[in-house]
Amino acid sequence: MSKMNWNKAEIFASYGQFPQIPPQEALTVAGENYPPRAEVAFSGRSNVGKSSLINKMLNRKSLARVSAKPGKTVTINFFTVGWLKSDSTPSVRGIYAVDLPGYGYAKTAKSEKERFGELTERYIASGRIKLLVQLIDFRHPPSEDDLLMLEYLKAKEIPFVIALTKADKLRKKQREQRRIALQSEIQYKDLTIIEFSAETGEGVLELRKIIETRCNTESPAQETPHL
Ligand code: GDP
Repeated sequence: MSKMNWNKAEIFASYGQFPQIPPQEALTVAGENYPPRAEVAFSGRSNVGKSSLINKMLNRKSLARVSAKPGKTVTINFFTVGWLKSDSTPSVRGIYAVDLPGYGYAKTAKSEKERFGELTERYIASGRIKLLVQLIDFRHPPSEDDLLMLEYLKAKEIPFVIALTKADKLRKKQREQRRIALQSEIQYKDLTIIEFSAETGEGVLELRKIIETRCNTESPAQETPHL
């Protein structure tokens, strides 16, 4: 079984309006003859550590932007990640990592909030997301917006996992307390939760593995390249 090359990542495109996003079949990388790459989306409020998580996962310093100033991502950004070595059995091809706009930044103008709220909602509702990684700050209870997002993901039946960010900022005891509190703060059961730190790299391998497993679910027949 071939593994995805996580070190091979590039920005592919940014979209500010939903209709600009090409349909999945049309969203191909030049020179690739394989079926469409799976889309793995990343969602969370501004400043939760989304850019840092994406960069860490891709072993890059600043592919996704990192800034202390929240509210700057107003587009959906597609990154190509990994490719298939031509001599290996098709299993995990490359994917698109899809960086969704950070939400919940109070100072963003209402019209902007509406625009990217609609952009995000329509993209999620399109049903093309193979897996969504929902980021929540490990240190704090989920925000109202976080809970609304989880509700929306459930309603649309989007497969998702939760990444608890900035894990390095909590002591062992605090972590334990937050884990217990989360069980009542989030009403859904059987969630996959990854404790993550962009600082220490905790959770990176676990997250990559979950993505690889999820994106490798098609039958071998479907995985055969179109010749
Ligand atoms: P985004 O707005 O969700 O993309 O968040 P960023 O990735 O820009 O991170 C926001 C701030 O949190 C930055 O100052 C980061 O350095 C910091 N940060 C992000 N992830 C971590 C982490 O795992 N540990 C620590 N200690 N700080 C982090």
